[in-house]
Amino acid sequence: MPDLLDDHPGEACGVFGAYAPGLAAAYLTFDGLFALQHRGQESAGMAVSDGRQLWIDKDMGLVSHVFNDYKLATLQGHLAIGHTRYSTTGSSTWRNAQPVYRDTGNGGFALGHNGNLTNTATLAEEAGMLPGVVASDSDLVAELLARAMASAGLEGVLEGRPLHPATPNLPTLPGIAPPPRPRPRVPGAATPGSPAGPSCSPTSGASPGAPAEARPGAGGPGTGPEAVDRDLECALLEVLPCLEGAFSLVLCDVNHLIGVRDPNGFRPLCLGRLEEGGWVLASETPALDVVGAHFVRELDPGEMVVIDAGGCRSLRPFPPGRVEPRLCLFEFVYFARPDSRLYGREVQGTRTRMGELLAEQAPLPVDTHAPARPAMVMGVPDSGVPAAEGFARRSGIPYGQGLVKNRYIGRTFIAPDQHKRDLGVRRKLNPLRDAIAGKRLVVVDDSIVRGTTSKQIVRLLREAGAAEVHLRIISPPYRWPCFYGMDTGSRGELLAANLSVGEIRDFLGVDSLAYLTLDNLVAAVDAPGAGFCTACLTGDYPVEVPVALHKGVLEAPAAPAPRPAPVAGG
Ligand code: SF4
Repeated sequence: MPDLLDDHPGEACGVFGAYAPGLAAAYLTFDGLFALQHRGQESAGMAVSDGRQLWIDKDMGLVSHVFNDYKLATLQGHLAIGHTRYSTTGSSTWRNAQPVYRDTGNGGFALGHNGNLTNTATLAEEAGMLPGVVASDSDLVAELLARAMASAGLEGVLEGRPLHPATPNLPTLPGIAPPPRPRPRVPGAATPGSPAGPSCSPTSGASPGAPAEARPGAGGPGTGPEAVDRDLECALLEVLPCLEGAFSLVLCDVNHLIGVRDPNGFRPLCLGRLEEGGWVLASETPALDVVGAHFVRELDPGEMVVIDAGGCRSLRPFPPGRVEPRLCLFEFVYFARPDSRLYGREVQGTRTRMGELLAEQAPLPVDTHAPARPAMVMGVPDSGVPAAEGFARRSGIPYGQGLVKNRYIGRTFIAPDQHKRDLGVRRKLNPLRDAIAGKRLVVVDDSIVRGTTSKQIVRLLREAGAAEVHLRIISPPYRWPCFYGMDTGSRGELLAANLSVGEIRDFLGVDSLAYLTLDNLVAAVDAPGAGFCTACLTGDYPVEVPVALHKGVLEAPAAPAPRPAPVAGG
């Protein structure tokens, strides 16, 4: 259910992984997840391996609520993945908390997913999964992997579905060791990544499709490196080409840490190196910083890295024709931390440039009042602030703080009536009356989704004595739902899908309203040649989305789809 008091697209998820010989990976993962908390607050979890067993711990709530010193001390091992969740497919329940775990009879594996598959229902149907076998798109991927590991290949799992041929490994990029030839498990089986060869044929004894509880010690004693080998890697090479949509994945079994980025690279995923010699994967670069890892590079769209005792190898599991970089443009506008680096750019700087370009594009109208009143540029905390600084610098209008945000308030509850919703906004944001009174305000915000919070902020500012309120938005109107991992609600809930800019201005009660153009937004990011997803702004969906895609697609397959159909490419 959307938080009506937070008028932003819901966050995606945060993923983290550490391969850190000699270090306590659980503590690194805790710090990494803590740095990624903004990407998901519904649940948190981690899987930790000591090379013999895989231990899973996850629960509903914030990272600091789920884990404490006592728990972390029991999660011993040098290898871990972690996840913070905001639900986009599958409801917000313990079962859907991640990492997802599957017991494959040799220690099992765990998976954390950021993004949203667009062919979830099709894959589940083709694999013959009955309702309830899997509850989310991430659960589905884990199930397909488990079945691939337990069978001779995915052909038996997705019967009749043509598999995309895997592609050869590409040259290794800086910071990554050359890829050795993977060792086939069965004589005569294909080398993973070879074009159109037969499937890898792992020899796990697990029952196909057997559901597994995520629990400590699921691997059981007696499992070791020789038992696990590359089953998970081979299964990924089989399953990944069948997945469509957005997926940045971290996975681990008892010996390997694996990171995957979908062929469009909708969601970020980066690689870091620990000074002690280990490796780290994270959704955003600040999670590398907090664990003392040096940024190596972002994973390429369509890249898979496998990290184990032999080093770090880069594989390309997708056909080259599917690889088309389309990083979510809203990562720059709102989702990512300001200290994150995406496409080699620090996000804070891109937001400042968005404000500068907005000042050129839509300046404050000349004051016709006599005597002229003072003006001030202010940002809506937090992501509107650097853009407001940029607007002020370019326009010459003084910057000031007009709203104080309560930094200790968590997710607000849905208030049952308008009065209580107003109070909810006041709990989060309080105006600085002396700074605001009598001034013509330029208020800079990142986006307007439903318009609920913007309307109440305008009312707060007017009650605090603002002479005029001129709203400036650092993104174009948000008109189309996101199907790639952000929770925006249906098209009917999106203000700009239903009202013109003039009508939105009147609805919000502002004196003027302007949105940054798409050209200026892309120019502000200043990454020449880089590809972006702009679907929620343009309706141009890079990956086709099915008409009936909705959050509960696997939980209530017979229910009518609550979202009207956005047309692929339209
Ligand atoms: S539709 Fe919008 S929010 Fe979703 S991935 Fe594309 S740019 Fe990002």
